[in-house]
Order: sequence, then structure tokens, then C-alpha cells
Amino acid sequence: MPRACTVCTHPGLEAINRALVEGTPNRRIASHYDVTERAVRNHKANHLPTKLVMAQSAEEVAQADDLLEQVRDLQAKALGILSKAEEAGELRTALSAIREARGNLELLAKLLGELDERPQLNILISPEWLELRAVIVGALEPYSDARGAVLKALESGGNGSA
Ligand SMILES: [Zn+2]
Repeated sequence: MPRACTVCTHPGLEAINRALVEGTPNRRIASHYDVTERAVRNHKANHLPTKLVMAQSAEEVAQADDLLEQVRDLQAKALGILSKAEEAGELRTALSAIREARGNLELLAKLLGELDERPQLNILISPEWLELRAVIVGALEPYSDARGAVLKALESGGNGSA
């Protein structure tokens, strides 16, 4: 019998989920809510999307929509930073914006995949991904080594059906 998740049973679950979606570091959440970092990590990987799908009440559904909306906002911000960094030629900033955007996208794909009944949601052909990809390629144009490495990493980190 697996032990109950200390995050799922936590009175602050809703706030924790929101913090996770906002990208608050697991360590900070763990210390703030007095749970283990491992529990937070496990909850984020395994329970957060399922929680959203299992939302039954109107209130829970509204919360799920709200989380999706937040991820979309974050994604728009990350893309904004990326294009500014691109204009300024700041490679480090661009790379960290790419990492942010990619994390958001993965979470978004996972949430949408869980919410959507259709069996396949291919991140690699989603409009968001194609847009991000185009921005990345453009941003890294002057840095061919970095560009090659980033693209390779992005491709190998897809959902494996490329
Ligand atoms: Zn949990």
C-alpha cells in the first residue's frame, strides 16, 4: 500500500498547487508548508495533473482552469523575455527564458493532455511549441554552437514520438 501523499492531504493543498504552477522552488514550498521536498517533487510529478482532471465540483473545475490560465500567462511572459533578450543579444538571459518556457510548455502539455480525452497530444506539433521553437532558432542564430546544443536537447527531450 503506498502511503498517502502528505501534500494531497495537506490543508494548504490548493495554495501548494498554485505555488507549483507558478514555479516556486520545491525546497521553498517544502519548508513553507512543513512537508518534505521529496513529497513536493513526487506530488508535482504524479498528482498535480491528475488532481486537475479529477476536479469534480464547479469550484475545483474553476481552480483547474485558473491554473491553466496561469501557466499560459507565465508562458507569454517567458516568450516576451526571450524576444527582448534576443534583441539585446543576451545569450544567458535567452537560454534561461528558453528553459522557463520549455518547463511551462511541458506542464501545459501535461495538463492539457490530462484534461483532453484525445489519446495523443504531441508537444512537438502543438502551435505553442512551434512558435517557441521558431523563437529559439531565431534567438540563437548568432551562436551556432549553442543553437545546435539547445536544439538537440530540445528534440531529445520531447515526448519521444518525434
Ligand atoms: Zn499528492
